Amino acid sequence: MSIIATPVPILSDNYAWMLRDSGSGAVGIVDPADAKAIIAALEREGGRLDLILLTHHHDDHIAGTDEVRARFNCKVVGAAADQHRLPKLDQAVVEGDKVTLGGSRARVIDTPGHTRGQINYFFPEGEVLLSGDTLFSLGCGRLIEGTAAEMFSSLRKLAALPGGTKVCCGHEYTESNGRFAITVEPNNDALKARIAEVKQQRAAGQPSVPSTMASELAANPFLRAKDEATFADIRAKKDKF
Ligand code: ZN
Ligand code: FE
Repeated sequence: MSIIATPVPILSDNYAWMLRDSGSGAVGIVDPADAKAIIAALEREGGRLDLILLTHHHDDHIAGTDEVRARFNCKVVGAAADQHRLPKLDQAVVEGDKVTLGGSRARVIDTPGHTRGQINYFFPEGEVLLSGDTLFSLGCGRLIEGTAAEMFSSLRKLAALPGGTKVCCGHEYTESNGRFAITVEPNNDALKARIAEVKQQRAAGQPSVPSTMASELAANPFLRAKDEATFADIRAKKDKF
C-alpha cells in the first residue's frame, strides 16, 4: 500500500494535491481552493473523493472546500486550533493525530510560523509530505502570524523526515525562491543544479514539485540555517528581496 501524490495546478500559482491510496483506490485532495478545477480533475480520475485535507485557513487553500464536499459527500480534516476559521471539520486534529485514507495513515505535524494553526500531513506509506505554506522548494512560508522561532522549529521537524520524502507544497514558487537562495549560498553546487533543473521543468510546462527532503536539505537555505538567529536573518532578507 502506498500513497501517490499528484499536483493539481489551481488559481495563479497554487497546487492542490490529489492523493491516491494504491491499495484501496481511496482518493484525497489537499487544499481544494478552486472547486471547479478540483471537481473537473477528480471527475477525470474516476469521480471518487473520500477525504479533504486542509493545511491552513488562507483562502487560496480552503475556498472550494464546501462545494467539493457537497459534490462528493466526503470527510474534511483540518487543525483543531483553527476550527473557528476553517470550513466545518469532520475531524479536527492536533500534533501526532492519525488521518486515514483507505489503507494508509498520515501523521499530523504541527508547523506554526506562516499561520499559527498551520499543520502538515506525512504519509509514511509512499513518504509523502503535504507541506502547505510551511516548506516550499528552495523556500519557506512568510511569517504572517507566527515567529521566526516557531517556523525554525517547524522546519527542524520536517528536516527529520526521511530523505526520500516527497515535499508536496502549496505553491509554484521555486524559480523565484531560487533567485533569492543563490544570494544566500552563491557557492552551493546542489542549489545551482536544482535551479538549472527547475528552469528546465518550467520551460517544459511542468511543475517543479514535488522535490525531495534530501534535495531541500542540500539546497534550501531556510532548511539549512543552522540556528534560529541565522534563520530569522535569512527570512528577513527574503521579505525585502
Ligand atoms: Zn498561506
Ligand atoms: Fe498560500
